[in-house]
Amino acid sequence: MKLICGASNQDLAFISDLCAIYAMAGVHCVDVAADIAVVNAARQGLDWVEKVQGTRPWLMVSISDGKDLHFRKASFDPQQCPKDCPRPCQKVCPAKAIETTGINPAKCYGCGRCLPACPLGLIDEQDTQMSLKKIGPLISEIQPDAIEIHTAPGRASAFESIVSSLIKTKVPFKRIAVSCGLEGNAIHPEELAKELWLRHSSLQQHGQKPIWQLDGRPMSGDLGVGTARVAVKLWQTIRPIAPPGPLQLAGGTNAQTINHLPLQDGPEGIAFGGMARNLIQPLLLEAQEREISLREWPEGWLKALSEAKELINPWLFRHSRPNHC
Ligand code: SF4
Ligand code: SF4
Repeated sequence: MKLICGASNQDLAFISDLCAIYAMAGVHCVDVAADIAVVNAARQGLDWVEKVQGTRPWLMVSISDGKDLHFRKASFDPQQCPKDCPRPCQKVCPAKAIETTGINPAKCYGCGRCLPACPLGLIDEQDTQMSLKKIGPLISEIQPDAIEIHTAPGRASAFESIVSSLIKTKVPFKRIAVSCGLEGNAIHPEELAKELWLRHSSLQQHGQKPIWQLDGRPMSGDLGVGTARVAVKLWQTIRPIAPPGPLQLAGGTNAQTINHLPLQDGPEGIAFGGMARNLIQPLLLEAQEREISLREWPEGWLKALSEAKELINPWLFRHSRPNHC
């Protein structure tokens, strides 16, 4: 079970507390941006949990082998906005990244919801994907427990180049997660499976163990029940034709996901992103207003932990729940 902090999320105070809360709630892995400051913030939260509780999830960092929605930031010039604009961009931003001075790049995680919201089309997106030559030195410095590579059909050779550069770092990865989806139904499930088999050959050749992260509907878990169905459907379709290795649901997962799966069956793993962050966000914002960390505010911490456990526990204790299917 994994917490996704967001491949472009650089909100350090938020990430530190978020990792601490979900680590204490029981996730097995936290997935953060491949960025030194972000990793340090996440490790601060994880160190604290290890000290208090004696447990520590894996730290995974996300990279990409090509252009990918998860690796972008939105921006606009606030000088160009009409003074009487009712600011629909601000209303749709789940990260509360849009301020009067424009978009706070540290908070923007690239969900893209603000782009069509501006009636004047003032919001642009910038690709933040890292170049191949920077990946090896950065990963050597970060020394994460695991890596996630976002990939897409047609990029098998770019994937192989990234894996080769990761191997040269000699970092002992516990797993390499491969994140891929149907690109909004632009490709067929058989094609996706074929692409995963190509990634499987590449990882096997380098002696690496995979996790297949099926990205149902990227960055949408906070939107509702429909996205949960998309993620489950992708798993059901891919499962019989996927290469060996654990399948993990992602992209649209939320509290409803479990109710769409039969009790004695299901994916080997689940990753929560938007929903996990959304649940805790009001308390994190309140802590930031008080200029303290959530860990220093016992009442807020306990409330946040209880929210996190409500999301996580049905998965930790999956086989003891009543069957809704
Ligand atoms: S809506 Fe999404 S893309 Fe736009 S600023 Fe907020 S987080 Fe960034
Ligand atoms: S909706 Fe467009 S014009 Fe209005 S505040 Fe946002 S970016 Fe500016």
